Amino acid sequence: MYKSVIIGTGPAGLTAAIYLARANLNPLVIEGPEPGGQLTLTTEVENFPGFPNGIMGPELMDNMRKQAELFGAQFERGWVTKVDMSKRPFVLTVDGLGEVQSESLIISTGASAKLLGIPGEKENIGRGVSTCATCDGFFFRGKNIIVVGGGDSAMEEANFLTKFASKVTVVHRRNELRASKIMQDRARANNKIDWALNKSPVEVLSNEKGVIGLKVVDAETGTEEIFTTDGIFVAIGHTPNTGFLNGQIQTDDLGYIMVKPGTTETNVEGVFACGDVQDHKYRQAITAAGSGCMAALDCEKFLEGSRVHDWSLSS
Ligand code: NAP
Repeated sequence: MYKSVIIGTGPAGLTAAIYLARANLNPLVIEGPEPGGQLTLTTEVENFPGFPNGIMGPELMDNMRKQAELFGAQFERGWVTKVDMSKRPFVLTVDGLGEVQSESLIISTGASAKLLGIPGEKENIGRGVSTCATCDGFFFRGKNIIVVGGGDSAMEEANFLTKFASKVTVVHRRNELRASKIMQDRARANNKIDWALNKSPVEVLSNEKGVIGLKVVDAETGTEEIFTTDGIFVAIGHTPNTGFLNGQIQTDDLGYIMVKPGTTETNVEGVFACGDVQDHKYRQAITAAGSGCMAALDCEKFLEGSRVHDWSLSS
């Protein structure tokens, strides 16, 4: 039986753990299949304040974890398959741990960038394949790169990447873009962006130094083609990791947890959400960490009994 359980160990969950542990609440932190979250998939992080020379993503996450442990946070590996939120204490069913009970919950399970699932993709993450232009764009100064996708994210990333790259080619599997008109117009007006429409990516090509090309198939003719490139940004959307909640927490149309604006409170009293699982707009390590701090403070107040749940998301 715990006062607080934190599910997820990205910057949001670990920051919440540091704050709750420092408040002597001895949180249990459950680490899922991607300990450290998305930052462990990146290389150097140059925009996290406090590191003028940058820091490697995995090292940053390792530091946060150590900091939380130092103050007494307890870590367990496990996969949360079920949470019963119908009454308190909440009951979590965790593969590898069994049943865990807690007075409060902080959900920081993040969102996973969708991948294409083609050969050469996963093994070249950090070697030219990226899912985050803000994180990695800077490393592609003067390079020729590809953005895969036809939605708003792809348009935004393509535009952003032209700040660094000499040329950005948008590769999209259909002739029509899904992106909103304004985002499309902005991208189409950018003369550093080329278009490869109706092309489905089938393989990422690389050598010992990293990515060298993308093999695509034309959706109409079926002909294979190879685009030479220094980097591939996959921008085909994210999936918030909320499946295990089984509809008990209110989410938006895309599956992101809804929180009361300006707080981390969900529609279930005693359950708080922070980081990318409730944010598809900013999606930065620093914003996730900030919301993790908010969740810990909200949770602490709830445990002190000073927060009365008096709002409804549906109203
Ligand atoms: P999205 O709208 O779902 O678009 C995903 C794109 O990736 C689609 O063009 C889709 O192709 C393509 N795609 C998906 N799976 C693929 C696969 N396996 N192989 C090849 N292509 C694939 O996702 P998003 O662009 O991340 O946007 C998500 C939400 O956030 C949207 O509501 C968007 O408006 C919003 N957003 C807004 C902004 C902004 O306003 N500044 C910025 C970013 C995102 P098809 O078109 O063929 O399905």
